[in-house]
Amino acid sequence: MADANRTPTKEETQSYPFKAETKQLLNILIHSLYKDREVFLRELLSNASDALNRLRFEMVTNQDVLDPKAELAIRIKVDKEAHMLIIQDTGVGMTKEEIVENLGTIAQSGARKFLEATREKSADLTQVIGQFGVGFYSVFMVAEWVRVTSRSYKPGAKAVSWYATGEDKYQVDSAEMAERGTKVEIKLKEDAAEFADEQRLKNIIHKHSEYIGFPIYVGEEEQPVNKQTSIWRMSKQSVSEDQYKDFYKQLTLDFEDPLLHTHIVTDAPVQLYALLYIPGKSDRGIFSLRREDGLKLYSRNILIDEYNKDLLPEHLRFVQGVVDSEDLPLNVSRETIQSTALMARLKKVISGQIMKELETLAKNDTEKYQTFWKEFGVYLKQGVATSPTDAESIYPLLRFKTNLQPEVWSSLEEYVGRMQPKQKEIYFIVGDDPKSILRSPHLDYFESQGTEVLLLTEPMDSFMLMGLRKYKDLELKNVAQAEISDKPKETEGQEQIADADFSKLIERFKQVLGERVTDVRASNRLSQSVARLADPDGALNPELQRVYKYLGKEYEVPKKVLELNPSHVILKKLLDVDPASDLQTLIIEQIYESALLVEGLHPDPSSMTPRVQKIIEAALGSGKTISRE
Ligand code: ADP
Ligand code: MG
Repeated sequence: MADANRTPTKEETQSYPFKAETKQLLNILIHSLYKDREVFLRELLSNASDALNRLRFEMVTNQDVLDPKAELAIRIKVDKEAHMLIIQDTGVGMTKEEIVENLGTIAQSGARKFLEATREKSADLTQVIGQFGVGFYSVFMVAEWVRVTSRSYKPGAKAVSWYATGEDKYQVDSAEMAERGTKVEIKLKEDAAEFADEQRLKNIIHKHSEYIGFPIYVGEEEQPVNKQTSIWRMSKQSVSEDQYKDFYKQLTLDFEDPLLHTHIVTDAPVQLYALLYIPGKSDRGIFSLRREDGLKLYSRNILIDEYNKDLLPEHLRFVQGVVDSEDLPLNVSRETIQSTALMARLKKVISGQIMKELETLAKNDTEKYQTFWKEFGVYLKQGVATSPTDAESIYPLLRFKTNLQPEVWSSLEEYVGRMQPKQKEIYFIVGDDPKSILRSPHLDYFESQGTEVLLLTEPMDSFMLMGLRKYKDLELKNVAQAEISDKPKETEGQEQIADADFSKLIERFKQVLGERVTDVRASNRLSQSVARLADPDGALNPELQRVYKYLGKEYEVPKKVLELNPSHVILKKLLDVDPASDLQTLIIEQIYESALLVEGLHPDPSSMTPRVQKIIEAALGSGKTISRE
């Protein structure tokens, strides 16, 4: 067939529909957003910078690129009259396939999250967009149309163009372009003509893109607008506090100041520049530029990994920042780099430095350290649980509330300093909630002795305990299980129920509660409380029970032993109630269920209401008429 043999001189224009999600995003960007539109420039410059970074990385191992001599730079031009803005870079560029793939679909997770956010709540879009990276498409906030012309660095690749107006479709065409890289031409909307102004653009660059590592030229000027300093490579003396904070904000888009920063410039044991931050909040938030944990890893100023996770232990993954080492071999791939011995050494220096900073903070600025602890304490607890080699170095950083100081965060060292002369163990109690845990009957004895007990109420605490069995030779003991020798002080001199009567009472409890408990017995450690639930011998300890509960393993509320307080007035009076009456049964059931409740084990607390009401009625003197139903 003649047609099949025809060699096309020029590829025909192809039209592609945008995906549904992309259309939605475009729609919002075009029609709903009028404030903070300037961030489109930040997004385009960040893409250009990414493309330049990738090219520089490529050139390390590959000399066979188009225009190897071209300066790695970004150039911006405007035509005020025509409302045109042009941003051109000499980065990797895109082939036809890549341009369709990259600009035709909404790949960016930030943009997807943005869409979700706008769907969920009636979020104030104009508030969010300024802090939100929505990527390339943000150009449609200001553009009537956009043409992207690109030529890949791959030798032999042909230039290609992409054109869209923000409607349903985009067009891809072959193009003429001699040089390597990408050119974004923007026809500005009538109401966005302000962006065809060199001074305005320079101001925006200073605000959002000062630390981009490549020169950005505006107009015909020979001097780049941005400083393009790698401030992590500067000496500590030459960087101001404000610069440190600014850099953090441009790196993360966090608008809060970081909690602390540390700058490492060293030649031994490895050559290393690092600029590390602890954010003010643990929640990165949907607006963060950083989409994953990890540090930016450079070698000789060349970005080799955007989110490197091998330089910090899991439990310090909240740390943000940049690491750069001359010692890293440039010809290794991102994949093999993690296994090098050098990486292990870098990790040691970096995590050591962070731990040292935290220790100093804990010592010198208690208040700030508490802020840190509230945000990031859970990470350190996780470290104790999962990283046995680090656990001991984390112990001094742990903070606890206690029964004696429920409002204050104490360190283990402080607890030990306050221990009673005879005390040989560190006591803790686990529970669900900081307030109700203070009413636990397990605390009765310890409170009466004035003994301090750590209050562990976070899910992570139970995991932490697996890696914290001892602190400086002192064992940690759960008060629910601790052995005690003497009676609580407050019950001394108080009369106990006679043995024979107490045995009768115990029998009555067993009869009423049946299978619900494994045993009923007297307790020698209760003072304020009527009863407590204890674990039968050989049961999983309460911390592990919790761990199982949180891991969602097959978990049933374990049957417990009900211990009764032989000196308690309620039990004394209960003896006087007619054993055949419903009232005694009701009270026994209520005592048991109240004990379940304080353990955080009651499956349905509101089910107690009818019973409580009947008991109240009885107390008010209508006892004769009550029934159990
Ligand atoms: P992100 O930058 O988060 O990946 P964007 O929406 O900003 O998302 O960009 C989408 C993709 O388009 C980029 O990942 C990149 O592959 C490609 N791209 C955009 N701008 C350029 C450019 N100037 N040079 C090369 N590729 C680019
Ligand atoms: Mg981008």
